[in-house]
Amino acid sequence: MNRTNVSRREFLTTASTGVVAAIAASPLAGAEILNKKAGKLACAGGQPVRTKGWPSWPVWDRSAEDEILAVLRSGNWFRGSGTRVTEFEKRYAELLGAKSCLATASGTTALITALHTVGVEAGDEVIVSPYTFVASYNVIFMVKALPVFADSDAETFTIDPARIEERITERTRAILPVHILGLPAAMDPILAIARKHRLVVVEDACQAWLAEYKNQKCGLLGDLGCFSFQNSKHLPAGEGGAVVGNDEALVDRCHAFHNCGRPHGAFQPPGSNPTRGTNFRMQEFQAVILMSQMKRLEKDTRLRGENAQYLTSRLQDIPGIVPFKPNPGATRAVYHLYPFRYKKELFNQAPRQRFLEALGAEGIPCSGGYGPANKDGLLEEALNSKSYRRLFSKERLDRYRQENVLPRNDQLCAEAVWFTQNMLLGTRQDMDDIADAIEKIYENRDKLA
Ligand SMILES: *Cc1c(COP(=O)(O)O)cnc(C)c1O
Repeated sequence: MNRTNVSRREFLTTASTGVVAAIAASPLAGAEILNKKAGKLACAGGQPVRTKGWPSWPVWDRSAEDEILAVLRSGNWFRGSGTRVTEFEKRYAELLGAKSCLATASGTTALITALHTVGVEAGDEVIVSPYTFVASYNVIFMVKALPVFADSDAETFTIDPARIEERITERTRAILPVHILGLPAAMDPILAIARKHRLVVVEDACQAWLAEYKNQKCGLLGDLGCFSFQNSKHLPAGEGGAVVGNDEALVDRCHAFHNCGRPHGAFQPPGSNPTRGTNFRMQEFQAVILMSQMKRLEKDTRLRGENAQYLTSRLQDIPGIVPFKPNPGATRAVYHLYPFRYKKELFNQAPRQRFLEALGAEGIPCSGGYGPANKDGLLEEALNSKSYRRLFSKERLDRYRQENVLPRNDQLCAEAVWFTQNMLLGTRQDMDDIADAIEKIYENRDKLA
């Protein structure tokens, strides 16, 4: 029999038959032995809950091929001579309900464009979430500003607004909330703090396509919002990104910056003075792939949402498994990753790494997610560089190091467990496999540590 083609139910039946025969004379109750949760852990040599694979990513079909070939044959591969990037910008703005959208080469270049354009300068400070991908703070270093981390809310996985004000100094210019894993950050309190202290807000929505806060799309709540279209993302094109906003003049200035400083739309550099800029342009090929991928985004997002909700309904009753809590006002999470926290106290003190290994052995791929950004070695590399020693006083950098202690984020980084978004594109039975495997590990927790 080909094991990979056997469903888990069939598989358990097959496995159980042998077990039943073997224990026929045993004093143990048959029902207990047949209970799937009581089976031996796969990491200890037992049968895994699942042997099937998971949906692969990215997903495409032939419908994109003609358009890609048409661009190739036209020779108009750059946005200046083609029409596709401009068309994509219009469509993505429509999809989000944004007044304006600029396509860029990547999410990283979108963030750099936004930070530069809202006026974050060398020697400024930007408050940012410490539970994030390295790009969120690398871009702050790229504009020679100081990334100042405000502690996380371990329940929501996002920045804790109550920890922001204590990190504001006279140099603070912006807040960079991250809708990490596709979970909307607490935008109302963040925006209130920004208004009070006259700070700009650039949203890192690089994992939050179609996510909503109070029924408004993430990326359109602050001054500018940034997206990524890298290959792993829900709207993939290999590489790619976008800056969106409702202030058209501001997005026009982003456009100028991303295109060597050339005037765009309403933005004319004052007098005959040129304005600084660079080349962060998207290619025509990327735009064609994105327009094709856009057709499936809403449907995929809905499916991920339904599966995530079902999975949460099954996981929330397992002791020691704490699903994430949405921020009040988060009306749509989009689950670039599905997160929960693992409480080893309820798993016989087994370290998270043991749990991850056991779950992987049951056929459920998983990871422990991000490490603490505030302890990333690249911080010291930056702070010790010539430019940072010129831009910030020794007193400021000393205080920065002293205050860069984030207990809630440490806890979150130590307890988190993630599943990737492609797993949420499966069936309800796939979600049951995940929950069954975790229940099985819980039942066998005495054999875990
Ligand atoms: C992917 C990502 C980025 C960077 O996007 P790239 O397109 O890879 O440059 C920034 N922030 C977050 C949170 C991301 O997930």
